Amino acid sequence: MKKIAIYPGSFDPITNGHIDLIRRASKLFDKVIVGITQNSKKTSFLDIDDRIQTANTALKNIDNIEILSFDTLLVDFADAQNAQVILRGLRAVSDFEYEFQLSGMNKHLNPNIETLFMTPAEQYANISSSLVREILMLGGDISAFVPKSVEDHLKSKL
Ligand code: ADP
Repeated sequence: MKKIAIYPGSFDPITNGHIDLIRRASKLFDKVIVGITQNSKKTSFLDIDDRIQTANTALKNIDNIEILSFDTLLVDFADAQNAQVILRGLRAVSDFEYEFQLSGMNKHLNPNIETLFMTPAEQYANISSSLVREILMLGGDISAFVPKSVEDHLKSKL
């Protein structure tokens, strides 16, 4: 049986932190599916097509990944993709409470799907999409946080 993981998120935009986690996960699983969702609690900066396009460009060197969007329940999406694992990143204690709740709910909804947490490499621990957006809007330098292709795409949206 192929080991398939779903890495869900808004990816608004995809950052070097996301990419590092996906690269490392791609060595642990036969396939990693990057599941891009419209998070109902957040208004997005990039629309879904732009988020898919920027992720595709940023991840083009990794073979065993697939980028898909979804707007169903995460566990239903995972099930439909034959994934056994949901991957999430844990950057700081502040991520923990929400992630703990989310994994508990998902476990309740589908006990067959495990949530696995990965911590970022040290140099990416402070990167978040929301801070990248904020710095961008205020004219700051985001080149250390996202690939050049993403930086260019974001600037073209200003
Ligand atoms: P969401 O809206 O679901 O939180 P994000 O795109 O912000 O979507 O994040 C998707 C996942 O990636 C989350 O599990 C988040 O904790 C994780 N993540 C975000 N930034 C980083 C980073 N710099 N390093 C590792 N994981 C990260």
